Amino acid sequence: MVQRILEDGKLTEFDVVVVGGGPAGSACAAELARGGCVTALVDADSSPHGWAGESLPPGSTSLVNSVLGPLLTKEGPHTVAHGTGASWGSDEFVITDFIMNPLDDAWILDRVAFDADARSAASHGGAHLFVARAQSHVAQGDRWHVTCRSPNGTRGQLSARILVDSTGRQSFMAARMGARRRKFDRLMAMIAVSDRPGDSRAGTSIESCRSGWWYTTPLPSGGRVTAFLTDADLIPDHRERREFWRNSYEATTYIRNFVSLPDRSESLEIHTYRADTSVLVADENRNQGPTRLPPWLAVGDAAASWDPLSSQGLMTGILMGAKGARAILDGPSAVVRWREDVALLVEEHQALQNHYYSTEDRWPNEEFWRRRRQIV
Ligand SMILES: Cc1cc2nc3c(=O)[nH]c(=O)nc-3n(C[C@H](O)[C@H](O)[C@H](O)COP(=O)(O)OP(=O)(O)OC[C@H]3O[C@@H](n4cnc5c(N)ncnc54)[C@H](O)[C@@H]3O)c2cc1C
Repeated sequence: MVQRILEDGKLTEFDVVVVGGGPAGSACAAELARGGCVTALVDADSSPHGWAGESLPPGSTSLVNSVLGPLLTKEGPHTVAHGTGASWGSDEFVITDFIMNPLDDAWILDRVAFDADARSAASHGGAHLFVARAQSHVAQGDRWHVTCRSPNGTRGQLSARILVDSTGRQSFMAARMGARRRKFDRLMAMIAVSDRPGDSRAGTSIESCRSGWWYTTPLPSGGRVTAFLTDADLIPDHRERREFWRNSYEATTYIRNFVSLPDRSESLEIHTYRADTSVLVADENRNQGPTRLPPWLAVGDAAASWDPLSSQGLMTGILMGAKGARAILDGPSAVVRWREDVALLVEEHQALQNHYYSTEDRWPNEEFWRRRRQIV
């Protein structure tokens, strides 16, 4: 990976600065560089994912490989997923085998490796990669000035005509411009990562329960991720969380048979992450009148993030990143059209999500499910 060094006290000029080198930011930077735009990609490289595995549905290989190059190959480190299983809407466990799927392979990713490779692909494609944290930004005339700090403490400024926020759910840059997020739910993921592989025949598996749903995914490196998804206010106080997670886990019918966890007496770390559906709402007034800002846009989770039930976050982020870049390359009217496309994408996603939730009607009076039925 070719990395640029942030020079202390120096201002370096670009056409576009993309802040956040997750899959969406890397896709955006790769496409911009391909289109001839002098692009900086800034990533804090802080391994945002406490869990190492995520899956990509059938049909993702061609999109990923066309935007970022051949990252998904059978040589690894990712593994091909042969199907998924779910107990959802009934007590039965239904396996969906991908063998009959006409689309290309599905994958279980090593997320840390995937993100590093995506940044590397953007930098090989011509984007200037800085390992640094963007700390603040200001508009000066028709340009953005972004102050960044590298891990060794040097602090420099990157200047550009256009700013892209791809910092994930926190939408770090947009939030500092007054944009807020509209939240549709308060879903949280309580995740345990174990180095025990559990049942090797069980791929990504889902099971709904009274107060939410469970999933487990094998990791390409061995081991397993097991997660309980429920609403923030249904999770007890920090001291009781492990017990709550364990009790709910032991009440599952299938998940507990696929997963192999240490005994209750041994330590098991459970980390809680946001997993809500939320959409960035930009304050349009700030873009008009005397306080008019230079152009900026948000891509990936920074623009809209989804409940992980659909396993669409990565694909949508990569697509949004690449299309956002094309809109920047094509000019202001294309950016307006692109914003409309994103709004449509959000609508479609929500319709899909509501559909999934509407197919589970065994516990209509339980708080978690009652809330989802109200959205429908
Ligand atoms: C529990 C859970 C399970 C999921 N499972 C799946 C799944 O199986 N399949 C799927 O497709 N999706 C899944 N998702 C969704 C997926 O993780 C996200 O959609 C995806 O990571 C979004 O990519 P992104 O590039 O927009 O943001 P991120 O992956 O969050 O990347 C943001 C990047 O910005 C960098 N950054 C942040 N702030 C700064 C700053 N100030 N300066 C510099 N850099 C900064 C971070 O270091 C990071 O690299 C899941 C989500 C959750 C919560």
